[in-house]
Amino acid sequence: MSHAPLIARTIPALNRACNDLKKRSATIALVPTMGALHDGHVSLVRLAKKRAKRVVVSVFVNPAQFAPHEDFASYPRTWKTDLAKLRDEEVDLVWNPDTDTMYPDGFATRIVPEGPAVAGLEDRFRPHFFGGVATVVAKLFTQVRPDFAIFGQKDYQQLKVVTRMARDLDLRVSIVGAPVVRERDGLAMSSRNVYLSADERRAAPVLFRAMKTASKNIRAGEAFVAAIGAAAKAIEDAGFKLDYLEARHAETLAPITDLSAGPARMLVAARIGTTRLIDNIAI
Ligand code: AMP
Repeated sequence: MSHAPLIARTIPALNRACNDLKKRSATIALVPTMGALHDGHVSLVRLAKKRAKRVVVSVFVNPAQFAPHEDFASYPRTWKTDLAKLRDEEVDLVWNPDTDTMYPDGFATRIVPEGPAVAGLEDRFRPHFFGGVATVVAKLFTQVRPDFAIFGQKDYQQLKVVTRMARDLDLRVSIVGAPVVRERDGLAMSSRNVYLSADERRAAPVLFRAMKTASKNIRAGEAFVAAIGAAAKAIEDAGFKLDYLEARHAETLAPITDLSAGPARMLVAARIGTTRLIDNIAI
């Protein structure tokens, strides 16, 4: 039988728990999440266990990264099953603050990330997003003071933003990127996949499939613009409306049109019905 993880909901309780973990000279890896946990999150926890002696998972649906018209109110909240999964993974501590604990009355400070945060991908469609992410992640790092923090490549631009921020602000945490975990048909796991109707769910694997074909064709010598144009058409023919489908330098996120310019990544964001999905692959 695995032990239930300790749950902290207030800053003093978190401080006590973290001090206790550190007293036993343990290294700590933090896995920030918004709950509604799936196998993608579980893979992050497993990677965290490989990096550090103790694993802290934060579960906090961060209002600061949602625009008023977005899905903060309806975002899936599945605390009981989340906790069961974290217990199965033998997580040491779950940090589950409420909004007032994270953003008490009078809260007035914000991180404004630049560089990868203004690369013209997610930021073009969700201008509030990376400011909200950077602010909450900086707070999580200050609160937990982890040695490592694990982020999924699923949110590729976010991984780059957080990595840059940790370096720029000397936050003394190593950011570790984890590969995208997919359903058997290729759809990237996401807490938002539950929004998809049966028809939309059937269409959704086209994102991965089209990018994979484009990537293969580019590696076989096809021009970026032709390969990406064909992928865009396949995605739109399946019923999606594209926000973007682009090739970028895998590190700088600068636009890239040639494999000789460095490691390349293809990134997509697309909407079907009321659901917006993102994904990316190495080219
Ligand atoms: P979220 O709860 O959606 O904010 O995600 C929390 C963390 O899990 C982020 O670092 C995500 O990139 C990561 N994540 C979400 N989905 C996946 C996935 N399918 N594979 C790997 N990591 C993921």
